[in-house]
Amino acid sequence: MKTIAIIAHDGKKPEMVQFLNENRDILHAKNIRLIATGTTGTKTEAAGYEVEKLLSGPLGGDAQIAARIAEGQVQMVIFFRDPLDKHPHEPDIFMLMRLCDVHNVPLATNPATAELLVRGL
Ligand code: PGA
Repeated sequence: MKTIAIIAHDGKKPEMVQFLNENRDILHAKNIRLIATGTTGTKTEAAGYEVEKLLSGPLGGDAQIAARIAEGQVQMVIFFRDPLDKHPHEPDIFMLMRLCDVHNVPLATNPATAELLVRGL
């Protein structure tokens, strides 16, 4: 079973919901476990997915996901960042992305890349 971590900044949550709706068949057909930061997780549940919800991003959710990446428990990250907004937890965001590179974990930061990644599952 593969674990995919999903995170979306506030300005990108509608795109995440759209992405989840459009890729339901692939994500349900494959043996996939989802984990998410708090608010993204709530929206993911509302879209009809089972998901493990961690803390909200600004409260440490990105750091929790980063730790799971370091422990080898996450096989893909879909992180729709909002490049037009400021984020109080920017250090955590960079840590998460850095650990994806340290551990060679595929990381999609926009829907076009995420689409390509899930098609490769
Ligand atoms: P959220 O966190 O899903 O709890 O909104 C995302 C983030 O801001 O990193």
